[in-house]
Amino acid sequence: MTARMLEIVGAGPSGLSAALAARACGADVTVYEKRPDVGARFHGDFQGLENWTSTTDVLAELEHWGIQANFSHTPIDEIVFLSSDGAAHTLRATEPIFYLLRRGRDAGTLDQALKTQALAAGVTIRFGDRRRHLSGGGVVAEGPHRADVIAAGYVFETDMANGCYATVSDRLAPAGYSYLLVDQGRGTVATCLFKHFHDERQYLDATVEFFRREVGLRWHSARRFGGSGNYQRVASVRSGDHYYVGESAGFQDALFGFGLRYAFGSGHLAGRSLADNGNYEKAWSARLSGLNAASVFNRWLYARLGDRSRRMLLERAVPGRDPRRVLQRLYAPTRWKSALARCLPSTPLLRTEHTRADCDCTWCRCQRDTRAASGAARE
Ligand SMILES: Cc1cc2nc3c(=O)[nH]c(=O)nc-3n(C[C@H](O)[C@H](O)[C@H](O)COP(=O)(O)OP(=O)(O)OC[C@H]3O[C@@H](n4cnc5c(N)ncnc54)[C@H](O)[C@@H]3O)c2cc1C
Repeated sequence: MTARMLEIVGAGPSGLSAALAARACGADVTVYEKRPDVGARFHGDFQGLENWTSTTDVLAELEHWGIQANFSHTPIDEIVFLSSDGAAHTLRATEPIFYLLRRGRDAGTLDQALKTQALAAGVTIRFGDRRRHLSGGGVVAEGPHRADVIAAGYVFETDMANGCYATVSDRLAPAGYSYLLVDQGRGTVATCLFKHFHDERQYLDATVEFFRREVGLRWHSARRFGGSGNYQRVASVRSGDHYYVGESAGFQDALFGFGLRYAFGSGHLAGRSLADNGNYEKAWSARLSGLNAASVFNRWLYARLGDRSRRMLLERAVPGRDPRRVLQRLYAPTRWKSALARCLPSTPLLRTEHTRADCDCTWCRCQRDTRAASGAARE
């Protein structure tokens, strides 16, 4: 019997998870990556691999899916939530709330670790090869198709102690949140906006000023970064013989933008199903549709609450409780959330802006990039 062949567009976490799963089932796998290396969309910034959408620890889940956690990571079980007046609420969990990791091209990043694992498993990765179509069908893992949310910030070096800080305020991050992450002499500070994208600079300056004042943020060798995400109510993951995974399918945490676990999960399900005569559509529906609906519903509700109610809710509801448990309840799929999410449009819930030809903000840049590059296999 000849081995099955699987082609994949995109060497991000979803594409490489699909590749590893398909290789484990004996398929010959080729991944096309338009950039010269993995992780080139990122800048050494810290991201959090969330540990609340399942009671299973996410690292154990990755291992079960054949992915080794051989990237630098730090378990985070304590977050300092800052009220808008600067009052600090330390939230402690009994188990990690998320694992801090780095994205980009450097050694130790998630991206480089996944690449090493894929190559060692016998996956072929063709760098600098942009694909607009796979003639025999396959997996599309090309990342965001539009910019529904942006994060803009700085990566830097610092002598600050390790810490993880977050705050919500429309003054710093409209309908989103601002965060400061410090680990072993490196830091990331950012504003995560769900609207008013063109004013990113003003919100980023206000965010940096806030953390300087409230927690003594200090840095050197700071570098700007920015990126976007795409979330939606996922209705279908298939177009002809092309199967969508990760953010190209719209799998993203619509509430706070923690899309990595969805990327791993959808990639794994697609790779395994396509290499092993399984049914990816059934598999994602059973494993991910409830989570997707809950996160879209959460975003819709959060957006409607307004700045004051959001802050009051977070400032009163979270302190004194285990934050991982609070998040687990918030993200838990339920029938009523799924029913309500079905009534919401599958288009972005908030966007009101238009790209400007002369604008270099993260949102305009990402919208231009995604429009020029994506939709590949949907053609
Ligand atoms: C600034 C920022 C901060 C974030 N923070 C977090 C966080 O803290 N926690 C979290 O869980 N998530 C976070 N996310 C989201 C997370 O990064 C994404 O959900 C995740 O990377 C999606 O993985 P993916 O494989 O679907 O897409 P991507 O990571 O975007 O990978 C897609 C790959 O496909 C390649 N590609 C695209 N088009 C083509 C083509 N036509 N041909 C060949 N190759 C192509 C791209 O170059 C890229 O390498 C953040 C995102 C941003 C931008």
